[in-house]
Amino acid sequence: MKLIEILKKPALSLSFEVFPPKTDSAFDSVRHATEEIARLAPSFISVTYGAGGGTSQYTLDIARNIMERYGVPTLAHLTCVSSTRATVREKIRAMKEAGIENVMALRGDIPASMENSDRSLWDYHHAVELVRELRESGAGFCIGGACYPEVHPESPNQKEDIRRLKEKVEAGCEFLTTQMFFDNALLYNFLYKIREAGITVPVVPGVMPITNGTQVARAISLSGSFMPQRFKSLVDRFGDDPAAMKQAGIAYATDQIIDLYANNVTHVHVYSMNKPDVAARICANLSDILGK
Ligand code: FAD
Repeated sequence: MKLIEILKKPALSLSFEVFPPKTDSAFDSVRHATEEIARLAPSFISVTYGAGGGTSQYTLDIARNIMERYGVPTLAHLTCVSSTRATVREKIRAMKEAGIENVMALRGDIPASMENSDRSLWDYHHAVELVRELRESGAGFCIGGACYPEVHPESPNQKEDIRRLKEKVEAGCEFLTTQMFFDNALLYNFLYKIREAGITVPVVPGVMPITNGTQVARAISLSGSFMPQRFKSLVDRFGDDPAAMKQAGIAYATDQIIDLYANNVTHVHVYSMNKPDVAARICANLSDILGK
């Protein structure tokens, strides 16, 4: 099923993100975790694409397994910056063959090994080029793109970031998923600005339940997200107690989701990664709200 159809529905819904294994030996445990998440019947599951493309085959394998065995729609991520055009075309062909209907078109982070290389030799520089490539493939994918309520770290300012985002949408992105954020006011402010700039596609806010103290530092360094004092206090108080931190992190994410729903956001994407227990606890917390 095309995600744009799901995102147009007025009912509240949740989706989850999983990441593929890095090695063959981890495949079964990741598949098992993703199957448990699929049993929660989310509106879709997104499967990330390993930085540098290292786990690209697993992205397809995991996505296909979820679709075929559980009937849960999937969103397969694809990055381009560290790939050649021939490789990307091959990936697109494989996605089509695997029956993938929804693709998240990403640039990917620039690997350290490429930072000082001659950019004129790169086949791809920005996600917008991948969006065009996917469109031109004629596969009829529903294409999503990433967006950044707190501005992409390489962007000079928010106005420029939104101008580039609009180009990506005009190239063929039918929906956008946000980077994680811990203060909903940032999302509301971002939505106001992009709507004013003429970006009208559905925006799916991404919420990450922080379930252990060490994840906090990693999440901030990866996303550059602002940590509200309320969240910092929670980490200060419970960071050294794994069970308490998990409970508090899930409660915080639940609270964010309830506030989003209360403010007319109908779909939320949860970065629960490969943790079915976290996904299940979020669903249980929202059971009456979701009517499940
Ligand atoms: P772009 O849209 O290309 O934007 C990157 C920067 O370039 C921005 O500053 C933008 O303003 C600027 N820009 C855009 N177009 C142009 C242009 N034409 N000229 C000049 N500047 C331009 N990474 C992975 O490796 N695998 C994943 O599965 C993955 N999934 C993600 C899912 C989501 C929802 C998000 C938010 C991020 C994900 N990432 C993933 C990380 C992502 O690859 C990085 O954030 C990357 O740095 C930017 O990717 P992008 O697609 O947003 O790039």
